[in-house]
Amino acid sequence: MKTIRRRDVLKTAAAMVAGGAAGSAMPAQAQGPVRTPFAVAPTFIPIAGSEQLFPVRRIYCIGRNYAAHAREMGSDPTREPPFFFQKPTDAIQLAPPGETVDHPYPTLTKNYHYEVELVAALAKGGRDIPVERALDLVYAYTVGLDMTRRDLQRAMGDEKKPWEIGKSFDRSAVLGPLQLAAKTGHFTQGAIWLKVNGQVKQSANLNQMIWNVAEQVSNLSKAFELMPGDIVYSGTPENVGPVVKGDVMDGHIDGLPDIRVKVV
Ligand code: MN
Repeated sequence: MKTIRRRDVLKTAAAMVAGGAAGSAMPAQAQGPVRTPFAVAPTFIPIAGSEQLFPVRRIYCIGRNYAAHAREMGSDPTREPPFFFQKPTDAIQLAPPGETVDHPYPTLTKNYHYEVELVAALAKGGRDIPVERALDLVYAYTVGLDMTRRDLQRAMGDEKKPWEIGKSFDRSAVLGPLQLAAKTGHFTQGAIWLKVNGQVKQSANLNQMIWNVAEQVSNLSKAFELMPGDIVYSGTPENVGPVVKGDVMDGHIDGLPDIRVKVV
């Protein structure tokens, strides 16, 4: 696992020790240095061609954003719009280009699925962002895998319970280093594919997304105040499927470095 973490005590941490009368409203973040009983590691993603690291605040994921995938998941894309869920930031596993990264098969599942996705990283935030201004927030892009314990996701869905256990587990957010949008341009079309052991499993075009990245950012900003450090998994095309230990996945989007992950 290659996630870069800094174990320093955070300058801004949960404000439980920041003072104030018991029972009074506490700010969510402390404004100055605080003392904490232990450190919680922040999550960073490398930025290609830069010494700087991208600090991750939230991971938003778009569900059912390609019509053919919505149909294979049992919904009607003409009736149900895409929707959002989140993964914890420490679910990120970095897959540097040119490396094969070991990805442990997770616990509890017997049906572990890949979902290759375009990932957009935001360096600006806001609420109620119009579609025409939404790409101003997007700082960088990369290839990602929204790894999914499909059996658990489906079982929870059948019971009308939250998907958390199927989607939001350790290392479920695989991605490559960020590529600056200033260099790559914004992604509205281009091939996106995933191979397992050299065989094409998913193959589509980014222009088949129901909501493009600008629309995703605009729609997200109606539900949440977006902030610098937020990243967005844009949804996966059709033909999701299982991997087992020993399988090697290659993820590709035209104009971005491929990622390669081995399930161990
Ligand atoms: Mn997904």
